[in-house]
Amino acid sequence: MHILVLNCGSSSLRADIIDDDDGGVLGSVKVSGLADDDERASLSVSPPDEAGATHQERLDVDDHRNAIAAALDRLLNDEIVDRLDAVGHRVVHGGEAFTHPVEINADVESTIESLSELAPLHNPHNLTGIRTAGERLPGLPQFAVFDTGFHGTLPSRARNYAIPSEVSERHGIRRFGFHGISHEFVASRAAAYLETDVRNLRLISCHLGNGCSVSAVEYGSSVETSMGMTPMEGLVMGTRSGDIDPGAILHLLRQDGWDVERVDRLLNEESGLAGVSGVSNDLRDIQRLAADGDEDARMAIQVFSHRVRKYIGAYAAVMGGADAIVLTGGIGENSALMRHRVGQRLEFLGAQLDEDLNRDAIVDDDTPVCDVSSPTSRCKLLVVQTDEQRAIAQKVAHLLREHHRPAAQEATIPIAVSARHCHLTQETVEELFGEGYELTPRNPLSQPEQFAAEETVRVVGPGGVLEKVRILGPTRDYNQVEVARTDEFKLGIDAPVRMSGDIDQSAGVTLEGDAGQVTLSEGLICAWRHIHMTPADAERFGVEHRDVVEVAVNTDERDLIFGDVIIRVSEDYRLEMHIDTDEANAANLARRSEGMLVDSGSLGRLNRRKTNFS
Ligand code: ADP
Repeated sequence: MHILVLNCGSSSLRADIIDDDDGGVLGSVKVSGLADDDERASLSVSPPDEAGATHQERLDVDDHRNAIAAALDRLLNDEIVDRLDAVGHRVVHGGEAFTHPVEINADVESTIESLSELAPLHNPHNLTGIRTAGERLPGLPQFAVFDTGFHGTLPSRARNYAIPSEVSERHGIRRFGFHGISHEFVASRAAAYLETDVRNLRLISCHLGNGCSVSAVEYGSSVETSMGMTPMEGLVMGTRSGDIDPGAILHLLRQDGWDVERVDRLLNEESGLAGVSGVSNDLRDIQRLAADGDEDARMAIQVFSHRVRKYIGAYAAVMGGADAIVLTGGIGENSALMRHRVGQRLEFLGAQLDEDLNRDAIVDDDTPVCDVSSPTSRCKLLVVQTDEQRAIAQKVAHLLREHHRPAAQEATIPIAVSARHCHLTQETVEELFGEGYELTPRNPLSQPEQFAAEETVRVVGPGGVLEKVRILGPTRDYNQVEVARTDEFKLGIDAPVRMSGDIDQSAGVTLEGDAGQVTLSEGLICAWRHIHMTPADAERFGVEHRDVVEVAVNTDERDLIFGDVIIRVSEDYRLEMHIDTDEANAANLARRSEGMLVDSGSLGRLNRRKTNFS
């Protein structure tokens, strides 16, 4: 699949066309210098299908919209547009509304817009990207992948600031966390490298770039992260201060000439590595100066690395240990010096840096993970290449694949609970109720033409009797009595689990009617739970006749996943899952009356396709 990934930031933007099947990048455009008033933006282009042929140009545009349109013009031609399957956008703030990627529609767009209040520097540009791409590529599905999304799993103790809930609720003051796309991506890369399921690992992921954050990724979920309500909290960054005593901010606000705008500029633009070093937000410059003995540059490196180490220790405490520490982002991937600093005195965690491996580590597309820990290190130190563009493309491609069978994820299946019942031949009906007897329809059933009859029978086994077992009509060409496992115990008969109609060598049983009795040598079964559906339903769900699937049932207190559910497809069916009373009771599904199929009112969800039963 070919995904156009757009990442529209406040001062730069990036657009890539990624082939999700082989991970290749078909074309790439970067625009920088967008926020500079006195400088024209510059654009760097790797044209489609000419990988490596990057060239730079000055870009004569004065707003983000024009810059995005210009970038798309450079990247897209008719042939490329034809090959595109979707557009994926990095959207910084998903707020409470979005913890997973979504397809963009008018509602999603307006929610993203309303979240601009929380991310004024980012969401408006993300929206401009969405709208401009929508105009340029009408009809192509667009998806939003949120930087906050991965942190949707933060427990409330990590989400809450210690302020009165009345204030936090009214003003939406809570921790969201950012860099989620990167943290999730490098966590899965680290897990793949360690050949362990991410759900078995406790990872401390350090994204150290222009913006910096640490995440505690416990068994695949983010449980702590250093950025909070905004991307200002936590680590020292390129130009942002990260953690600072809120008292210091109040103190500044009380000084002459320090208003909110001034403090905002200080903390967002003039602090961090740039502020402490006094020269640059780029660690490369700072490292050079530090090597020449510049004290401020050295202090910048010390404050930065100390803060990262402090968070690593804290997050190890949060998770009760760590299996690996991941270093990523421009600094984490490239600065051996910073990794050396960060990796000091972590032996208490079982993490020991190998200085040689660290110095030589280079991550790239071919080797995205480098282990820089000593062989005896219990907790691995891994340098991992992040790739947010690719991460977005993967997520979008995954959603598109799901879209091809949307019902499997979206549609629910009505569930009917079958109480014990029997299907009889006309001959058996006459033996039980008299010659020429016809069943009397009592009420129709959900499957076309089927009805529950007025007549019932006694089902007699060696251990006991089931009274008033309903007969379902019309009559069939075989006798079949369907009971639940509990009924079998009562009857004293061990009946097999079978699909309806498969009665060969099933259990025998005696039936008693008003006018006679019949002993069946076979016909008693415990019905195999199944779903009736039409061929159109089957296509929607991506299943075939006789597939065996899982169905999740949502009830108030006893959610359950039924495995071994068999699919039965016929034009004559109506979509419905049939389970028996034991199964319904196990999930606390309601059943209104006895003796027929009853719509439980609860919804099943076809979870995933398992195997094709043969
Ligand atoms: P962003 O957060 O904008 O995605 P990056 O992850 O690309 O930023 O990180 C950019 C930063 O990485 C640069 O500002 C620079 O400080 C640092 N960096 C990049 N390459 C090196 C290097 N070779 N040595 C030290 N620092 C580097």
